[in-house]
Amino acid sequence: AKREGRGNFQFFSPEMNAATHEHLLLENRMWGALNTEGFELYLQAQVELETGRVIGAEVLLRWNDQELGSVEPSRFIPVAEESGMIVPLGDWVLGQTMKLLAQWQREGLDELRLAVNLSARQFSGAPLLARLDELVAQYAIDPSLMELEITETAAMRDPEATRLLLRQLRTRGFKLAIDDFGTGYSSLAYLKLFAIDRIKIDRGFVKDIEHNPNDAVIVAATIGLAHSLGLTVVAEGVETQAQWGFLRDKRGDEAQGYLFARPMPAGEFREFIRLQAQP
Ligand code: C2E
Ligand code: CA
Ligand code: CA
Ligand code: CA
Repeated sequence: AKREGRGNFQFFSPEMNAATHEHLLLENRMWGALNTEGFELYLQAQVELETGRVIGAEVLLRWNDQELGSVEPSRFIPVAEESGMIVPLGDWVLGQTMKLLAQWQREGLDELRLAVNLSARQFSGAPLLARLDELVAQYAIDPSLMELEITETAAMRDPEATRLLLRQLRTRGFKLAIDDFGTGYSSLAYLKLFAIDRIKIDRGFVKDIEHNPNDAVIVAATIGLAHSLGLTVVAEGVETQAQWGFLRDKRGDEAQGYLFARPMPAGEFREFIRLQAQP
């Protein structure tokens, strides 16, 4: 920090300094973690609303650092996004996810779908397609078992490029979902334009669904709209029986949330499925 600056440049406030320091620290440790298996995939079940039957899971990244302990995604993902590190990190997630799908296929668990989060930075046309093709060939998986989640904000950066890329992904068989629906630039027109399969209603709308009439109306209308466009709806962050009941009433399709399962390591998820499958 330039303490004796001429007053014009106050680039370095103490807060910024701390933020920059934290940023550099995390970035540094993340590179280390990527090489030393400090990251792990957690899986959170997604269920059919009507029955509660598990139909797949969302892949959520977890980081347990040797020095920092466990670091929340809300803390490290933004840093990874900003530094560009999310590209190699996201690539690792894609590879590990396909590896897991291949393993499940060998074990006869071949109907469960895995959804991965794609960063806007990864959502980059040719490089992404090439990488996915490579991984699909390497692990010999069926792309329709894999769902790619992109946020509205990422999708709307360049709607025409998004439209093309989504079509190419679709042609390959990947499932496509719009994540955090309702929180970004929600142009309803794009829903018709983009070749997507599902929309995920953000937890923010689900949280107070029983008490906040606006949220209730928004969720019900979103389900109706999605269905009229031939899309499936997943509600995120379902924590209570009452929320589940409301969503079932409104004919939502699928749900995800602590009520059904927390995110857990892949091995635990395997066991969770096995127990569920027992009559
Ligand atoms: P997201 O994609 O919206 O993921 C859902 C988040 O909601 C997860 O937080 C999940 O643990 C949490 N959640 C699920 N059910 C409930 C519930 O019933 N109640 C509450 N309070 N929370 C619930 P998590 O795992 O901390 O991830 C946060 C965000 O980090 C994700 O939000 C996603 O944007 C990002 N993220 C996580 N993994 C990856 C990744 O592999 N790649 C990228 N690009 N982003 C990731
Ligand atoms: Ca997500
Ligand atoms: Ca989400
Ligand atoms: Ca979210």
